[in-house]
Amino acid sequence: MTHGALPNTVEVRTLAARGVVIEGGLTIARMPRLEAATDGADAPAAVHIDFQRDEEGRYIAVLDVSMQVKVPCQRCLDGMVIALSSHSALAAVWTDEQAQALPSRYDPLITEGETDLWRVVEDELLLSMPAFSYHDDVLCGIKTGVLTVSTEGEYVIDEPDKENPFKVLAALKADSKID
Ligand SMILES: [Zn+2]
Repeated sequence: MTHGALPNTVEVRTLAARGVVIEGGLTIARMPRLEAATDGADAPAAVHIDFQRDEEGRYIAVLDVSMQVKVPCQRCLDGMVIALSSHSALAAVWTDEQAQALPSRYDPLITEGETDLWRVVEDELLLSMPAFSYHDDVLCGIKTGVLTVSTEGEYVIDEPDKENPFKVLAALKADSKID
């Protein structure tokens, strides 16, 4: 078991043959594409990789990655934190043909020798990013000042006569009930 910072490059087949487990952290500074796609992160990604051979002799890396990243809410543009996580089983192959012949439970990792682990982890995190991130409706409304909480603990729409996106949304929901 290896702890601490995640090594940059590894020989997947060698580690799988030895049954090595690697655990480590990876800071967002090591993942420039993820850094560009988010507003950063306060803590490194937690990475756990179980290298093993399967019954057919394939070289496998079972990868678990989790990370909290900051993104803007796409409705109110205020910041929010989302949790990314990914579980995948990667099979080391030499060619595209081998990749296509893999059972569906495996994702191909085309590699001849050294594999860039940082890039693999970054790819997994990018794939696990939601297409859109929004606060819960109520939280988003409070942040934009449209909603307030009454003394009875109920949510109140400010200025009910004024058009606002939440009123429109409520009207849409009412219409869809009639249908
Ligand atoms: Zn929001």
